[in-house]
Amino acid sequence: MTENQPKKKKKWYKRPKKKENTTDNVSDVKGDKNIDKQESPKKNEAIKKNEATKKNESAKKNDNDKKQEQQKSNKKSSKKPQVKVKSKSNDIKVTNPGEDKIRITPLGGMKEIGKNLNVIEYKDEMLIVDCGLSFPDDEMLGIDIVLPDMTYLIKNQHKIKGVVITHGHEDHIGAIPYLLKQINVPIYGTRLTLGLLAKKFEEHRLGNVKTVRVERNQKYHLGGFKVEFIRVSHSIPDASAIAIYTDMGTILHTGDFKIDYTPVDGQVMDLHRFAQLGEEGVLMMMADSTNSERPGSTISEQTVAKSMENAFMNAKSRIIVATFSSNVHRLQMIVNTAAKFNRKVVINGRSMLNVFAVASELGVMDVPEGILIDIKEINRYREDQLLLITTGSQGEPMAALSRMSAGDHRQLQIQEGDLVIFSASPIPGNEKTISRVINQLFERGADVIYDSVAEVHTSGHACQEELKLMHKLVKPKFFIPVHGEYRHLKQHANLAMRLGMDEENIFIMQNGDMLEFDQEECKHVGTVQAGPIFVDGLGVGDVGSIVMRDRKHLAEDGLMVVVVSMDRRESKIVAGPDIISRGFVYVRESEDLMDEAREVVQKRMNQMEEKGIREWSQLKNGIRDSLKDFLYQKTQRRPMILPIIMDV
Ligand SMILES: [Zn+2]
Ligand SMILES: [Zn+2]
Repeated sequence: MTENQPKKKKKWYKRPKKKENTTDNVSDVKGDKNIDKQESPKKNEAIKKNEATKKNESAKKNDNDKKQEQQKSNKKSSKKPQVKVKSKSNDIKVTNPGEDKIRITPLGGMKEIGKNLNVIEYKDEMLIVDCGLSFPDDEMLGIDIVLPDMTYLIKNQHKIKGVVITHGHEDHIGAIPYLLKQINVPIYGTRLTLGLLAKKFEEHRLGNVKTVRVERNQKYHLGGFKVEFIRVSHSIPDASAIAIYTDMGTILHTGDFKIDYTPVDGQVMDLHRFAQLGEEGVLMMMADSTNSERPGSTISEQTVAKSMENAFMNAKSRIIVATFSSNVHRLQMIVNTAAKFNRKVVINGRSMLNVFAVASELGVMDVPEGILIDIKEINRYREDQLLLITTGSQGEPMAALSRMSAGDHRQLQIQEGDLVIFSASPIPGNEKTISRVINQLFERGADVIYDSVAEVHTSGHACQEELKLMHKLVKPKFFIPVHGEYRHLKQHANLAMRLGMDEENIFIMQNGDMLEFDQEECKHVGTVQAGPIFVDGLGVGDVGSIVMRDRKHLAEDGLMVVVVSMDRRESKIVAGPDIISRGFVYVRESEDLMDEAREVVQKRMNQMEEKGIREWSQLKNGIRDSLKDFLYQKTQRRPMILPIIMDV
């Protein structure tokens, strides 16, 4: 449905000077722009794109929407005045900028799980530790991924000496391509981390990326900083803690870690080095808080391997294991177990195939000759000779396992007697979808094992006893709990205090907070711009809170469009009002309601005509108000109402 395009300039009603679009989207972009102007080049790009769209569509004019949008942006700015203040004051408020002090500014990973990014500054030089993304929660309708706001980095790009990466999980590397599209900085990481990144650079068509593959326990100079990567255990190989040396003191960032004394690859975390650092003195420690609520220790991968073997032993038919594609140790262990039980391995899911390729190529994985078979070959083997490794451990609807459980996978159907093992724990928020998949699998006759019934998974993050060991080895002067929601950060802070740390030396931070310290004291000195940047399709940062609010409104209450054709000289209705609705009521069963709604609009239009109201914005407001009240009275619902006046 489109509005007729006016051929001549209308003179009889007031028109706003600026051309506007009828859709709320564009007004939203504008609303956001008011606030985000000069703050984010990325956003500006998106805005430019949208302005171009706006021009193309400028024939669609709607003065009322402009008013609405102004109201919206006014509302927004009155709600969040600090955002505007920030942009005016060059978006950083730092008191007492000390030259000889170290500054730490997290731009992500505080009070949230994901998009980890920390900035460390000293003597006008900057170092970035990790640059990850996070996945949208249920509220973020239509959003693909979420990035940290990197405005502060872009502004200070001349100071950045490099990005050091603790490990290859998405919440630590996922935003790097987006950073590199704007500034070219060298990336430092271990073997697998860089291997996984190389795939990303390919996907994003980034050439000319300078990467430095680091070895453990060597010092690398990045400007005045010296960094050293130290081996830790985690749910992905080649994970490291990073020690950053300055002449003021040492900063230790643990990255994600756990302590596994019997890891799959036999490479035990370098506890010795942590103890040495502790002896030499660590000024500041930043440590993983993800599991700080959990008492005890994580179980070893060896324990998981034993449970897995038990499960394999009892399986009479096919075995299907769902796990995280990045958990290479787990994949290795599953392949080893398959080999032991003479089963061929089929790998299913794009990311899983990807990881197998990268990890085998780099020698991180050791896959026995001839054990892998293609999915097309499964008919050549008996059921008890097959093992399928698949993505979908989080119940992701598009992943192979969900499709199999729903019976709409092209090549694979769940059969009576299949054994399905979830070798993963639910990421918070995914419990429901996983539960649905488990139910469906049971209904199709499969047997299902998941971590609440057997030890077929272990976390990659240190529990309390492991955290205590880290604190006691490192003995930092100052401490920032990182990687976690507020409750995790708080519990980690409590744990440090129980170990005897002074409360004044522990800092629970927000994204954007800037901490400044020397050997004597550490304090909060300011705030820089930080917050989520939504990626939706090709748009980075163009979806803001107003678009999101409209999406929620549409999703929850539906839409009603009222179309009226008017003769612009006579100011008379020529056709309509016509009403189209989506997601509001089932129209065929609500004809009376729709008829009445039309009458309500008609009546209001007549009243306005008598009063001589000709301004389109007023006409539209009139339509909207009359319908809003009527519909609420009749249905107690509040759909989004979009009046459109066509000009004939
Ligand atoms: Zn991780
Ligand atoms: Zn992480």
